Amino acid sequence: MPPSMSLTAQVLARNTNVPIFYAASRAASSFWGKVPMGPPDVILGITEAYKKDKHPKKVNLGVGAYRDDEGKPFILPSVRKAEELIYSKCMNHEYAPIAGEAVYTKAVAELAFGQCSLALKEKTNCTVQTLSGTGALRLGLEFITKHYEQVKEVWFPTPTWGNHPQICNTLKLPHKKYRYYDPKTHGFNLQGACEDICSMPEGSIILLHACAHNPTGVDPKKEEWQTLSKIIKEKKLLPFFDMAYQGFATGNVDNDAYAVRLFEKEGHQLMLAQSFAKNMGLYGERVGALTFLCGDPDTAANMMSQLKIMIRTMYSNPSINGSRLVTEILTSPELKKEWLEDVKLMADRIITMRKRLRSGIEKHGNKNNWKHITDQIGMFCYTGLKPNEVERLTKEFHIYLTKDGRISVAGISSNNVDYIAEAMHKVTSK
Ligand code: PMP
Repeated sequence: MPPSMSLTAQVLARNTNVPIFYAASRAASSFWGKVPMGPPDVILGITEAYKKDKHPKKVNLGVGAYRDDEGKPFILPSVRKAEELIYSKCMNHEYAPIAGEAVYTKAVAELAFGQCSLALKEKTNCTVQTLSGTGALRLGLEFITKHYEQVKEVWFPTPTWGNHPQICNTLKLPHKKYRYYDPKTHGFNLQGACEDICSMPEGSIILLHACAHNPTGVDPKKEEWQTLSKIIKEKKLLPFFDMAYQGFATGNVDNDAYAVRLFEKEGHQLMLAQSFAKNMGLYGERVGALTFLCGDPDTAANMMSQLKIMIRTMYSNPSINGSRLVTEILTSPELKKEWLEDVKLMADRIITMRKRLRSGIEKHGNKNNWKHITDQIGMFCYTGLKPNEVERLTKEFHIYLTKDGRISVAGISSNNVDYIAEAMHKVTSK
């Protein structure tokens, strides 16, 4: 008997008359033997490579998580306080309702749509707690596959967050692209976007990043949002907002909700995915929400009943820890005030790093235009670095980022900004 055979295979071959060639291969004997190796996640792959690198000056600009000025994960002081408050209440660990606690869903919907929202007042919204922003997108898109009666075609901006098309692929939901980023100006391509929107079939779904677009850091201006709202309405499209960074764009959660609130005011029956990963630093708590503005309260109630069925068969009910923290903060005026200051602090540090990176590159006499570094907003900067320049940054300078030249500005700190600026200057100079 071949020594390399597994014990199970040897027993099989000895005790039954199973031919050796049949029992020899472990893979062949597994129920899952035909499962192929999948490609690694692009962003997590970068972090893996960064971890293996032993260079003392290595920098990870790949991962989209906020870091303080020492490069460390940041626990928001307001969140810490909320944790202590919750701990002192000795709360139980009973199940949450299927859609999450009503106090939570009310508070998060109000954060997005504002206290004057007509939809919230008239209860024409339907809001459920989700597993962070990803869970909201997945649930929303899956709901479309089951219940949407119009054109089941999702349009994403070019470029967009890599997980958007992947979720559609998983759901076998057709998706297409509309023009968004203009590489020449490093800004928003309003004309291209409008032309593409006009060509979309009536009833199709258009995904919009509510603020702090990932990966480009380019958002439409207020007047541009107004134009988009008008033509999206004319074309009778269903806007699906992804708001993973409320507060991160301008440091003000109300400013960052401008587009969502404008679309509500203009009567769109929109969808909204919210995440508290970034603006409360609750990455691992997986706390978010999905809202539909349904037009009337009866439809909202029907939608809620169907959402509950979908949630019940997926994970029964959401987790309670993260949503308690969010609720504690949003429903206490003092804590909320502190949280808004924490958000501003994070956004301001990012803005400062943008300025220092740009001036750092320019100080070296670099001939390229780096205005977009300070024009773009939010956590990410689409540097415009070409793939060979990105490769040089990683190989020669141990600076890790995605191949498309996107950097997470949150990974830049006072300690590494000059090093990064010098490296970016070197790889972009002849
Ligand atoms: N949408 C966008 C555009 C994002 O960048 C992210 C996070 N990278 C998410 C949604 C979802 O993040 P999470 O599931 O952690 O809330």
